[in-house]
Amino acid sequence: MDALDHFTIPVSGLRMGHHTFNFSVQSEFFSHFEGSPLKRGDLAVLLDFDKRSDMWELHFHIRGQVSTQCDRCLEEFSLPMEIEEQLLVKFAEEEWEDDTVVYVLAGTPRLNVARFIYEFINLAVPMVKTHSNAGALCNPEMLKFLRSREEAERDENPESQSSVWDALKGFKFDN
Ligand SMILES: [Zn+2]
Repeated sequence: MDALDHFTIPVSGLRMGHHTFNFSVQSEFFSHFEGSPLKRGDLAVLLDFDKRSDMWELHFHIRGQVSTQCDRCLEEFSLPMEIEEQLLVKFAEEEWEDDTVVYVLAGTPRLNVARFIYEFINLAVPMVKTHSNAGALCNPEMLKFLRSREEAERDENPESQSSVWDALKGFKFDN
């Protein structure tokens, strides 16, 4: 049995209309996705599944936190998340998907939603994530350490800052 099997909606057995599903996403969940940038988390997923004859409409409410590295002080911190996402599933001769619609073969009996939940969580992580996203403060010792290391690097190699400009200057003069 696939470890993510319990994220499968048994659509063919459902009557038409709305159905509610609850899922729990724990750290183990992320290990099933190769190269996942997220490794740890604890989130609750509430899925409203609307089965209609012409399409399925899925509404996800995902709430919890993931562990991620602060881009400023490099320390691991807990990033709170509250995600609302919608997904439309329509029927086609071939399986494919675009930005807003997933197409499955007509008569498809089941739909596993683990991958969609995984993608929604990853999309919700900001490009630059710092402790301030969690309403917390960076580790001051870590900031001090990083700053001193930066300064030390500059002292050791003072030309590194201007090398690009020097190269450009050289280029100009050669012409
Ligand atoms: Zn920080």
